[in-house]
Amino acid sequence: MTLYCTDNYRTDEQLAEMRRLEAAGICLFCPAALREHARQEVAFETGHWAVTPNAFPYQGTRLHLLVVPHQHVNDMLDLGDAALADFWAALRQIRERYGLDHYGLGVRNGNCSFTGATIAHVHAHVLVGDPTLEPEVPVRMRLSSRPRGR
Ligand SMILES: [Zn+2]
Repeated sequence: MTLYCTDNYRTDEQLAEMRRLEAAGICLFCPAALREHARQEVAFETGHWAVTPNAFPYQGTRLHLLVVPHQHVNDMLDLGDAALADFWAALRQIRERYGLDHYGLGVRNGNCSFTGATIAHVHAHVLVGDPTLEPEVPVRMRLSSRPRGR
């Protein structure tokens, strides 16, 4: 099983980390690894989800959270009904904890070779832009990719 889509890395540091984890067979977003990982501190958990600030936040964000299911699936719709319902409860907790009155939500589902995702463990991005940046830096999320030839 491939855990990481190394075609979609954004920084050399991230690529090196993905290669190390793939070789070790560690999915960074499965609960045991996520709770231990130094760079990916878990802010809080619900029954089915962990919420963690992205260790590699997108340009232009003042807040970039990842909402990660405890279960290893690559499509949100492969989660059970209880986990799906709990997603919205987790998102509501995020809105309250961080005092958000606006945010973006993005999820890449399915084969990560084609979605731009870096890891084969689905997760939702909660993105809040930074309105103080001059010039403005729009927050952009890549939602497609194609496998590179090797
Ligand atoms: Zn996983």
